Amino acid sequence: MAKSIGRLLGRRAPPPPEIAAALDALARLAEEEPTLSEAAALQGALLRAAAAAPPLVAEVDLAEAEAARKLAAGVPLLRGEDLRLDPAALRAAFARLADAARKHNLPGADAVAEALRRGALEPAALARAVLDGDPEPLALIVGGLGLPGDLARTLLRWSLFGPLSALAERLAPLRAAAAWGHGYCPTCGGWPLLAEQRGLEQQRYLRCGLCASSWGSDRLVCPFCASRDYEQLGYLFLDGKEQRRAATCDACRGYLKVLNALTPIPPYELPVLDLATLYLDMVALERGYAPAA
Ligand SMILES: [Zn+2]
Ligand SMILES: [Zn+2]
Repeated sequence: MAKSIGRLLGRRAPPPPEIAAALDALARLAEEEPTLSEAAALQGALLRAAAAAPPLVAEVDLAEAEAARKLAAGVPLLRGEDLRLDPAALRAAFARLADAARKHNLPGADAVAEALRRGALEPAALARAVLDGDPEPLALIVGGLGLPGDLARTLLRWSLFGPLSALAERLAPLRAAAAWGHGYCPTCGGWPLLAEQRGLEQQRYLRCGLCASSWGSDRLVCPFCASRDYEQLGYLFLDGKEQRRAATCDACRGYLKVLNALTPIPPYELPVLDLATLYLDMVALERGYAPAA
């Protein structure tokens, strides 16, 4: 009864626990680092928009043998698969995110919302391009409409994060037995957003920025160009903050943020930690290193 009255009054249901935890972490971050409060508010708004009902669901039919064959060949599990994402639901999620971006006055958000309204922008086509590992169609679609590419990519990432991270978790048993020595994600092919080093052994795990997958990686290799030249691999960090570093590679000029973590970072807290370590991006960019595209 109380529930139906709440619905009649238009009250929003409380966010699921993992979203609530990420929102709490954002609130704490904004308090500790006032310079990040605006960015934290934006991320909170995107998070709420991405998590709003109805939830988006992605599903694939992937047999064990086919998964093993793909992984052995270095092909991410979702490459070439039909995710059965409802295009209308994806469009609705993308529109909610564009609206949140518009309310935070992000440049180009109006144009993105307008392109969605007139049907010129089809998020399902963007999603297909990203999962096919081919950035060109995405650039062509977005560029052809005169939209800011970074914003379109950000909104796409946020709309796909929920369905892809849930799907990645369901697919994790398929890759439990497979060795994966690549720097890109074994599930979706995305580049790692950051790396976490767990426990006393400081074992390194890369974490995907698109689907939150976690996969083990050698600490002495660059995930982007596979260089093992120790003279080219280094770290940047601030004095007294050695727990959070940027691992740099002079062979490809790439960098990856590496954080110490006792337990695996929950998916929705990955973007929060990415924001909390923005100072490391600044330090790396200032020295001429570039993040993975
Ligand atoms: Zn991934
Ligand atoms: Zn490299």
